[in-house]
This record gives sequence, C-alpha cells and structure tokens, in this order.
Amino acid sequence: DASNQTSATHTQLRYQQLVQLIMRYNQEYYELDQPSVPDAEYDRLFRELQQLEELHPELASPSSPTQKVGGKALTAFTQVTHEVPMLSLDNAFDSTEFIAFAERVAERLDSAEAISFCCEPKLDGAAVSILYEQGQLVRAATRGDGQTGEDITENVKTIRNVPLQLQGDFPQRLEVRGEVFMPLKGFNSYNQQAAAASEKVFANPRNAAAGSLRQLDSTITAKRPLHFYAYSMGVVSDETQLAGTHFGRLQQLQQWGLPISDEIRVVADAHGVNAYYQDILQRRAELRYEIDGVVIKVDDIGQQQNLGFVSRAPRWAIAWKFPAQEELTQLLGVDFQV
Ligand code: NAD
Repeated sequence: DASNQTSATHTQLRYQQLVQLIMRYNQEYYELDQPSVPDAEYDRLFRELQQLEELHPELASPSSPTQKVGGKALTAFTQVTHEVPMLSLDNAFDSTEFIAFAERVAERLDSAEAISFCCEPKLDGAAVSILYEQGQLVRAATRGDGQTGEDITENVKTIRNVPLQLQGDFPQRLEVRGEVFMPLKGFNSYNQQAAAASEKVFANPRNAAAGSLRQLDSTITAKRPLHFYAYSMGVVSDETQLAGTHFGRLQQLQQWGLPISDEIRVVADAHGVNAYYQDILQRRAELRYEIDGVVIKVDDIGQQQNLGFVSRAPRWAIAWKFPAQEELTQLLGVDFQV
C-alpha cells in the first residue's frame, strides 16, 4: 500500500545518499589524503550501509563501497597489479562484536579444534607491499583499490628500517606486506617545524604517513620520519619453506631482516584476546606510535585457508577498534582535545 511504498522510497533514497557520501569520503581519504569527517562518523555511515544491505539484499550491488577496498591508484604513479589482492579488514566496535566474530569462526571450523589467535596492534598508517627478488628490494606499492596500487619503490627505499637486502634463508621471491607509519615524536616535531615555516601541517599521523609515501619526489619522502612494520606476506615463491602459523611466519620475516612490532602475542582463545585488548588499550597513550585498535588473526594457516575470504576482507581476521576519541571523551567526561 501507499505507506509501504513511501518507506521503500525512503530506504532507497537513504541507500543512495549513503553510497554517494561514502564514495566521496573514500576519495578524500584514500586519494587526496584529506578527510573531511572523523573516522567514527565514517564508520557509522559504513555500518548503516552494511545493515541496509543486509535487510534489503535487492539494493546491494557489486559496485557498493561495502564490496570494495580503498581508493583508486593515482595515475601520476606507475600502476602495480597485485598478484594476491590486498584486502581490508572487517571491524568490531565492542566486545560483543568481537565475540560474534569468534563464534562465527568456531562455527565454520570443526568446533572440536582449538583456535588460537595472533593479536597485533592496529598501526594507523598506510599499507604497503614490498617485493624482494633474490633477497633484493625490487618494488614497493600502495594498496590502492586492492587490485591495483601505485609504484612507490623509490620512496619506500628511503625508509630507514626497511632492508634493501634480506639475510638468511629467504624465499627467492617474497612479497612482504606491512604498515608505513609516522611515530608520534617525529609527527609532532614535523608539524611544529611546518607550522613555524607556515607550511601545511598534517591532521594526524595516518595522513602524514600516507601523504609522505605518495610523493613524486623521493627526496621529500626521505626527510619524513617514517617507520615500517611487516605484518604479513603476499606472493611467495616456495610456500613449503613457510611456517604453519601466522606468528611463525612473522618470526621468519624477522629472521630475514624485516622489522615487526614487539607487541604481537599469540593467545589461546577469545578470553586471551580480550585481555590483550584491555592491556594495550590501557597503554595506548604510552606507545611511541598511534594505534586505532588491535588486529586479531586466526593463527593457524590451515584454519585460515578453511575460512577463506569474502569480497573485501578475510573471514579469519578482524580489526577490533578502540572507542573513537570523541566517544572516549564522553565516556570519561573529560575533554582531551585541547
Ligand atoms: P582498516 O584501516 O579498517 O583495516 C585494514 C588496514 O589495516 C590494512 O590495510 C592495513 O593497512 C592496516 N593494518 C594495521 N595494522 C595491521 C596489522 N597488524 N595487520 C593487518 N593490517 C593492519 O581498513 P581500510 O579499508 O584501510 O580503512 C577503513 C577505515 O578507514 C574506516 O574504518 C575509517 O576508520 C577510515 N576511513 C575514514 C574516512 C574518512 O573520511 N574519515 C574515509 C575512508 C576510510
């Protein structure tokens, strides 16, 4: 009847509005490194769109932002096709959502199997892929839209803790994935100097890292205090050389000379994840770099393979985000934004 039709039209209008808004915010964030809304606001809209699509599957399309990763690669850079797509992560915003994730994982796997998780800080920077051939760094790229990224080889070579040459018994062809970020000390002093020189200051360390990485002149990147931590692998020539757990593989990366965070831990179950999350949330302000949550990955590679992927993200991992600063402010009743 008429009222049903009105509500259907409303839903459709809201759906289109959300798609357009999110596409605009994606472009500002991923392509221009200049977001116009806080992440918490973006996350709310994204969640609303996901929920609308769940309730009204007829609205969802493969071109919806919920099915896509990141933004377009800028044509000013040479384009790089990722042999293994670089995906995003699903989010959990509270412990209930994390528990729902852990239950989904247990349901999909044989419930008799123990499931341990690898917990990592969610570094707030930009994802990069670094390819080594015969142990030599030959190419580095941004994530882009997950299929195609930007060639930023010369820029990544300027990051001091990225090895140009691997050591030990490394695979002949190895793609390392990780996060480039700007530690807080470097970020603050960069912004102070920029402000003193009346130059552009960065809104946050994430934008500083993404903006510094995507410079056409690598001598500019070289002056930025960037840092890298590896967190996974892409294409590898000989997988039989690799450990059977995610954590084991991170340790292999470390043996080959790649830096990894010293905050990574393996825990036996969801309770262990909760303890890890609470602990690092407490210490958040003392860390040398900004993190916006923790990333939790099923540790066993066989279990990861059984779980597989959906279009945008793996089923075996989740980003459990910290409360947004604005929400923290409300929770604690104090204004931190001086
Ligand atoms: P994401 O940042 O939520 O998660 C995926 C990314 O996490 C990976 O690409 C990787 O770069 C990073 N990461 C950090 N540590 C990691 C680790 N240990 N293991 C694996 N990955 C790790 O996903 P996304 O798709 O890059 O971005 C979505 C988020 O970006 C949104 O939730 C929102 O907060 C923000 N965003 C904001 C705006 C805005 O306008 N403010 C627009 C778009 C996106």
